[in-house]
Amino acid sequence: MNALVTGAGGFIGGHVVRSLLDQGRAVKAVDIKPLSRWYQLHPDAWNVVADCRLVEDCREIVGAGVDEVYNFASDMGGMAFIETHKTECMLSVLINTHLLMAASEAEVGRYLFASSACVYPSYRQDRYDVEPLKEEHAYPADPEDGYGWEKLFSERMCRHFHEERGLETRIARYHNIYGPRGSWKGGREKAPAAICRKVATAELTGVPEIEIWGSGEQRRSYTYIEDCVHGTELIMRGDHSAPVNLGSSEMVSVNELVSIVEEIAGITLKRNYVPGPLGVHGRNSDNDLIQRTYGWQPPTRLRDGLATTYAWIHDQVARELSP
Ligand code: NAD
Repeated sequence: MNALVTGAGGFIGGHVVRSLLDQGRAVKAVDIKPLSRWYQLHPDAWNVVADCRLVEDCREIVGAGVDEVYNFASDMGGMAFIETHKTECMLSVLINTHLLMAASEAEVGRYLFASSACVYPSYRQDRYDVEPLKEEHAYPADPEDGYGWEKLFSERMCRHFHEERGLETRIARYHNIYGPRGSWKGGREKAPAAICRKVATAELTGVPEIEIWGSGEQRRSYTYIEDCVHGTELIMRGDHSAPVNLGSSEMVSVNELVSIVEEIAGITLKRNYVPGPLGVHGRNSDNDLIQRTYGWQPPTRLRDGLATTYAWIHDQVARELSP
C-alpha cells in the first residue's frame, strides 16, 4: 500500500514517514523545503520537493499508485508565528483544497487532514480552569483568527468531499504536539520546545534566568509525538470520518511546564515575566470520543515526554554553542 505524506520535511510528517516505513509501507514523502532542510530525511522513502499550494504539483505527487494521503503540509508555527502571519496561515487553504481535488480525482482510498485545537472558539477558552473541549464545541464558530479559520474551513471541505464525492476523509484535531526533531528555535517553535531551549541555554551558559511570556498562568495540554503518530494511525484506519481530538488531557500552566523542565535539568531559574503572544487562557482536550471509538487515548505523561524532548534540544543547543 503506497502512502503519500505531505509536510514530510517537518515535525509530525517526518515521524509519520518513519512509522509507516517501519510498518513496511512504501512511502512518497513530499515537502516544499529543499531536502537539506528536512528535519528527518528517510532514505527508504521516495523524497520529493513540491509545492502543494499548486494543483498541478498535487496532481503529480498524488498520481498513480498512491492509496492514502496524509496531509501535514502547512505554513504554521507557535503563537508568535500564527498571531503575526495570518495571511500565510490562511493561504494553507490552497494546500488542502488542491490535495483534496487531486486525491478525489485519483480515487485514493483515504485522506487524513491534520487539524488543530485552534478551531475551538475563544469564548470556551477565556478562563484558566476551562472545561475540556469536546469535538462538538467547535460550533458556533469563533476559532483562532487566521490559522484556526483555515483549519475549520478545511475540515468542512474534507466533510463535503466525503459526503458528495465519496472520498474517505479522516480528521485529527491535534492539541500541542511536542517531542524531539521539531522546531526548537527561529520563531516557529511552540512552548515546550522554547522552554526546553531556554532552560538548556541557561544550564549550558551558566546564566540562571528564563523569560516567560505573560504571567505564565495560561494553561494547556501537550501531546507527545509518539502518541500523536499512534493516534493518527488509529484515526486513519478507523471508520469515524468526523473530527476527533488527538490530545493529552493532562493540563498544566506554563509556570508548571517550566518547573517540570527545570526539574529534568536539575536547575532552578530566576523567572522574568515579559510581554508576548499568549493565545487563549486555557485549553484542554476532552478524550471521550477517541476513548469510546478506539479504546485509547494518549498515555505518555508530560514529565516522561519532556525528558526525551529536553535531552534532544539540549544536544542541539550544545552543538550550537560549541566553538
Ligand atoms: P511543521 O511546520 O514542522 O511541518 C509542516 C511542513 O509543511 C513544513 O516542513 C513545511 O515546509 C511544509 N510545507 C509548508 N507549505 C508547504 C507547501 N506549500 N507544500 C509542501 N509542503 C509545505 O509542522 P508540524 O508541527 O509538523 O505540523 C504538521 C501539521 O499538523 C500542520 O498541518 C499543523 O497545522 C498541524 N498541527 C500541528 C500541531 C503541533 O502542535 N505541531 C498542532 C495542531 C495541528
